[in-house]
Amino acid sequence: MKTKPLFIVMSAPSGCGKSTLIDMLLQEYHDLVYSISCTTRAPRGEEEDGLDYHFKTKERFEELIAQDAFIEYAKVHDNYYGTLRAPIEEVLSEGNSMILDIDVQGAAKVRERVRALPNTDPLKIGYVDIFVNPPSMEELRARLERRGTDSREVIERRLANAEGEMARAGEYMFQVTNDDLGMCYKRLCDLIDALSGRM
Ligand code: 5GP
Repeated sequence: MKTKPLFIVMSAPSGCGKSTLIDMLLQEYHDLVYSISCTTRAPRGEEEDGLDYHFKTKERFEELIAQDAFIEYAKVHDNYYGTLRAPIEEVLSEGNSMILDIDVQGAAKVRERVRALPNTDPLKIGYVDIFVNPPSMEELRARLERRGTDSREVIERRLANAEGEMARAGEYMFQVTNDDLGMCYKRLCDLIDALSGRM
């Protein structure tokens, strides 16, 4: 079935299950491609170039900035992070869809860029942004504590960030709440199917 290629931007506070939801979508939708960011930071542990990130030198990254190659980029703690525009254009031109996992600030930059594109641009035609809400702040705290990977301080910081991000959820075209993983996933699938014309 021929479907409309989508450019999906997804954001969620950490601990909302966004990575799990994206992994589930990638397993199910074989025409969905995950956008791999570029960064100037060094690979950590088992991270692989072209899989976790496209690792770049600062010089190369700045060259790409000068060429306006990024749909958005940011400098975080002395390192650059960004999303190249060309791979998104390529995926959409092949009739497939791209999913971008990005924070609220990055999403706002992408949204602004897309808004300025001509109405005939495939990125604008296929654009959709989705915010994943936690069921509640109490449940988010419980999830972060259960995960056991973060110190108390980090958990408090993540919760404060989550509040700031949730305050901007209204900027997104769609919101889903991850109260129950299966139900939330189903709502995402229904949304993608409707937007891509699968049903
Ligand atoms: P890390 O170094 O831990 O992998 O990521 C650090 C931060 O960079 C995270 O908050 C992550 O969301 C952000 N980040 C990763 N890729 C991108 C990107 O393409 N654009 C922007 N703006 N931020 C990114």
